[in-house]
Amino acid sequence: VVQESFLQPQNVPADIQEVLFTQDEVAQRVKSLARAIVRDYTGKDLIVVGVLKGAYIFMSDLTRAIAEEGLPSVQIDFVRAASYGAASVSSGNVSVDMCGEPEARWEGRHVLLVEDIIDSGNTLKRLAGAVAACGAESVRVVTMLDKKGRRQVSFEADYVGFEIPDHFIVGMGLDFNETYRCLPYVAALKPEVYGGKKA
Ligand code: 5GP
Ligand code: MG
Ligand code: MG
Repeated sequence: VVQESFLQPQNVPADIQEVLFTQDEVAQRVKSLARAIVRDYTGKDLIVVGVLKGAYIFMSDLTRAIAEEGLPSVQIDFVRAASYGAASVSSGNVSVDMCGEPEARWEGRHVLLVEDIIDSGNTLKRLAGAVAACGAESVRVVTMLDKKGRRQVSFEADYVGFEIPDHFIVGMGLDFNETYRCLPYVAALKPEVYGGKKA
């Protein structure tokens, strides 16, 4: 039985310009990323670290897929990153919040950072550096979305869900002023909604 719901295209909020990746498309991609990650980390002590808040849905889907693909011993942790500046533009000034846990918690571990989206590269460059400084054995990054064309600093993720052009994205954890995180698909916001003022 198919129920009426906001998953249906005719029900997307009016602020949305376009659904870029449906729930099914994201799920398929998550499964193949998980397969690659399991292949690379089998036999290793893996800790998957989600970057709050934006990565929370992708993190949940990906870690469950990792367990399902054969690595049920995977551990999880979170870190928070905030970039100061205008709402839709990342600055180079990124603060890292360890969520109350000791800095040494990743010492000797294989850390996989899970991010929602990479834009300028500032956040991940800073975070990957902070994790390495904790004495991690290895640091890799998986991102659901990658706006490769917008880098201000050189940074490449090890696993990329989807490479996308320059849209302002909401859904699957990504917000506009804290709304639309819970949309179960990846969507582009109408430029007139965010003011189209991205750098
Ligand atoms: P970067 O530091 O690479 O420029 O940006 C990383 C952070 O900026 C992301 O983790 C995300 O929080 C935010 N960001 C970048 N692009 C978008 C976007 O299109 N939509 C939303 N909601 N956030 C974005
Ligand atoms: Mg983020
Ligand atoms: Mg945000």
